[in-house]
Amino acid sequence: MRIYGDIGRVGTRSGAAGAKGREGLPPQLGPGQVYAMKSGWVFHTGPCQIVRRTWDFNPEGLLVIDAEGADGRRQCGSCAAAPKD
Ligand SMILES: [Zn+2]
Repeated sequence: MRIYGDIGRVGTRSGAAGAKGREGLPPQLGPGQVYAMKSGWVFHTGPCQIVRRTWDFNPEGLLVIDAEGADGRRQCGSCAAAPKD
């Protein structure tokens, strides 16, 4: 799965990410991981609508990275407003 390559490149644990492929929901986040888009300067702490939409329409553009790797990105507004599950 192509997303694994991206995860490896940013040096994160691959964990369960991508394991299920495109079966509706984005890959699960592991501890300390966040979603990020290949382009842009935002990170996502949960599968908000933007993450889901990207996963549906452009799965290659969705990355799972270590939160440390999100340094310099800002948190998505939807994620910031969403309660932690
Ligand atoms: Zn978000």
